[in-house]
Amino acid sequence: MKIGFIGLGNMGAPMAANLVKAGHEVTGFDMAEVSIEGVTMASSAAEAATQAQVVITMLPNGQILRHVANEIIPAMTRGAAFLDCSTVDVDSARAVAAQADEAGLLAVDAPVSGGIGGASAGTLTFMAGGSKAAFAMAAPLFDVMGQKAVHCGASGAGQAAKICNNMILGVTMIATCEAFALADKLGLDRDRMFDVVSTSSGYSWSMNAYCPAPGVGPKSPADNGYQPGFAAELMLKDLRLSQQAAGSAGADTPMGQLAEALYTQFVENEDGLGKDFSAMLPRFEQRGRD
Ligand code: NAD
Repeated sequence: MKIGFIGLGNMGAPMAANLVKAGHEVTGFDMAEVSIEGVTMASSAAEAATQAQVVITMLPNGQILRHVANEIIPAMTRGAAFLDCSTVDVDSARAVAAQADEAGLLAVDAPVSGGIGGASAGTLTFMAGGSKAAFAMAAPLFDVMGQKAVHCGASGAGQAAKICNNMILGVTMIATCEAFALADKLGLDRDRMFDVVSTSSGYSWSMNAYCPAPGVGPKSPADNGYQPGFAAELMLKDLRLSQQAAGSAGADTPMGQLAEALYTQFVENEDGLGKDFSAMLPRFEQRGRD
C-alpha cells in the first residue's frame, strides 16, 4: 500500500519502519528533522498525504491532530483511509472522523497500548473506532504493526477503550504501591506480600506483570531505577483525558479523579517527571499518614 505517516517520534518512527519492512511504500512527515531507513520524507503533511491509500498519524495530542487533519484531509484522495493512532480526547477523535467522512474518506481512531517496545517489535494492541469498512481497510496494517486489534465500535470508541483501560491501570498501580508501603510499615516482607497477592483476589497487571517493588516478581522498570517503561507524565496525560471525558459524559469517577490528582502532584511537585509511573512506590515509602 501507499502510506503517508505523520508524526515520526518515539512511537511513529518504529511503526513506520515496520511498515517499510513489510513491503509498504511509506512517505513520512514530521516537524522535527527525522530520517528512517526506507521512508521517503515529504516537505509537508499535505504532501505526505497526497496519493496515499492510508494516512497514519501518531501525534502528541488532540489539538495538534485537529491542526494536521485540517491540512491533510483536503489533500487526500476520496476513498482513502485516515488512521489516527495517537492518544487524544474522544471529542477530537470524533470531530476529525466527521470531517474525514464529509470529505469521502474512511476514518479510524486506533490508539495503542504496548509502548515503545511494542512499537519496535510490532506487537502493539490497537483499540479501534470507526465503520466496518474503515476497520477492514486498516486491518492488514494493524497486523504488521501489532499483535492484536479490537474493533470497539463507532468513531471515538477506540479512544474511549484506551482511557478506560488506563484509568484502571493508574488506579490499580496507586493501590498496589500504597499497599506495599503499608506492608513495609507493618513489617510484612515484600516477597511474601507478592507471593500472597499475586495469587489472591488482590492480583492485577500492576502487581503480577509490572510489580513496582524492586527485586520482587518479574523484571520491571522498578528493577532498573524506575527508568520508563511508561513514564508518569504519560499516565498523567491519559488520566487527564479520562477525567475530561468523564466530565463531558457526566460520569462519576472518584477513583480516576484521585489518581489524576496524585499523578499531577507526583509529576509537577515531587520529582516524578521522567520516572516510570510505578515510582509511586518510593513516593509512598517516604511519606507518613499526614
Ligand atoms: P513523540 O513526542 O515522541 O512523537 C510525536 C511526534 O509528532 C514528534 O516527532 C513531533 O515532532 C511530531 N509532531 C508534533 N507536531 C507535529 C505536526 N504538526 N506535524 C507533524 N509532526 C508533528 O510522542 P510518542 O511517544 O511517539 O507518542 C505519540 C502518541 O502515542 C501520543 O499520543 C502518545 O500519548 C501515544 N502513546 C505513546 C506511548 C509511549 O510509550 N510513548 C504509548 C502509547 C501511546
